[in-house]
Amino acid sequence: MPRILIVGGSDAGISAALRMRELDVSVEVTVLLRDAYPNFSICGLPFLIGGQVSDPARLAHRGLDALQAAGLEILPCHCAIGVDAASRTLEVINPDGQTQMFPWDRLLLATGARPVCPSLPGIDQLGVFPLRSMRDGLRLQGYLELRQSRRAVIVGGGYLGLEMAEALSSRGMEVTLLERNPSLLSTVHPSLGRRVEEELGRRGVRVLTGVTVKGIDDGAGALRVLGDPELAVQSDLVLLAVGVSPESELARRCRLPVGAAGALVVNRRMETPVAGIWAAGDGVETYHRLLDRNVYLPLGTTAHHQGRIAGENIVGGDRLFAGSLGTQVIKVFDQVIARTGLRAEEALAEGLPAITIPFRSPAHKSYLPWAGELHIRLTGDSRDGRLLGAQMLGPFPQEVSKRLDVLATALFHGMTIEALSDLDLSYTPPLSSPWDPIQMAGQEWGRAVSAGSKGA
Ligand SMILES: Cc1cc2nc3c(=O)[nH]c(=O)nc-3n(C[C@H](O)[C@H](O)[C@H](O)COP(=O)(O)OP(=O)(O)OC[C@H]3O[C@@H](n4cnc5c(N)ncnc54)[C@H](O)[C@@H]3O)c2cc1C
Repeated sequence: MPRILIVGGSDAGISAALRMRELDVSVEVTVLLRDAYPNFSICGLPFLIGGQVSDPARLAHRGLDALQAAGLEILPCHCAIGVDAASRTLEVINPDGQTQMFPWDRLLLATGARPVCPSLPGIDQLGVFPLRSMRDGLRLQGYLELRQSRRAVIVGGGYLGLEMAEALSSRGMEVTLLERNPSLLSTVHPSLGRRVEEELGRRGVRVLTGVTVKGIDDGAGALRVLGDPELAVQSDLVLLAVGVSPESELARRCRLPVGAAGALVVNRRMETPVAGIWAAGDGVETYHRLLDRNVYLPLGTTAHHQGRIAGENIVGGDRLFAGSLGTQVIKVFDQVIARTGLRAEEALAEGLPAITIPFRSPAHKSYLPWAGELHIRLTGDSRDGRLLGAQMLGPFPQEVSKRLDVLATALFHGMTIEALSDLDLSYTPPLSSPWDPIQMAGQEWGRAVSAGSKGA
């Protein structure tokens, strides 16, 4: 019976392990992870910090008992430090601090990503936090409780920065969010980023865009964040949310090739170029379905998909990763913002003649009083009308993400924008219209492009 080792006990590693045991109960699967939190939802950390989740244990997708009941051997606090592909052994520091060698026949690297920590003066001070792992989250929570912190500065206006702005202000803190770009959420059109900024402003979060952080001073019992153009903000804590990079150190040590953003090179079966070694999750390149090439696009959804594919193939399956479209959604106070596929600029950079038409519509029949407004941006190929991407913003909880998911499904299947009108979508006045807003947006795209619009 082949001995299967998995390094990494989060989304990708556990998805793979469960899939292997689902397909073949005879396989022995050991999962090593360097932290003490197998199969936890780190995506839930903002909700733990914000107080909506009271007990960190509730963030576990599955408890240790459930993982063991599925037939997995789980070894927390085991840090892999070396892989020898020739002798098929993994070198590990165990919880007693001793080096232990683990033999393997098949190895999956699912080591995820680490937070980017910019090399700025003062970045190592007490009170400056990244947020990536359960350990980071618990450290941050402990600090907030111990220090009774009142003021926070968040560096970075991507999805993590925005979720944490809501979380920290839900705790009654004064939050300042600093973003280097002219608008928040660089993954969507600036007009939508500005709406998110307005929402944050309405909720008392101070947002400063176009600001580059230069360093952090220790100023009279508080931290002082310095930025350019001239800026100095006093704070009790600073949260760094400026992105992640692949945790590929282990792989580099055994000379596995890295590609986009330093992520491991894998094929669509999630195999590395070294026989017997697979890799999945935030540490690896992601095949992009529209671009038909690998990119770095770390997401929890993708980590689950890739893990499942790797798991299936490791036990003898032959499945290809279908590819990512970069579909993602985030809720910021009462607004939800989602995207899938390519923005016009991204498509144009790929040589695709893309046109984006913005469209606004009530989320459902407007004779019912609570209809919020949806902002939809459809991007299509001007030659054949093929859908290339979509972005949507609207009030929570009005079906933004599921509508966007319909568009992601259309994109996955290569549909044209015109064909959206052929979809048989559900309707009742409190939830939609006979033509769903995404179909109306598609009809508007067709009219505008026929009338010669170059988009907006
Ligand atoms: C606050 C937050 C919110 C998020 N929200 C969303 C969201 O809403 N939607 C979404 O799609 N994504 C979200 N993400 C991203 C998502 O959590 C990640 O894409 C996903 O967790 C990646 O899973 P992974 O298994 O590849 O890696 P990770 O979760 O990074 O796990 C890596 C695993 O490898 C282990 N490991 C690493 N190195 C070693 C070593 N040398 N030896 C042993 N073990 C090792 C770690 O202990 C860990 O178990 C969020 C992330 C954060 C931090």
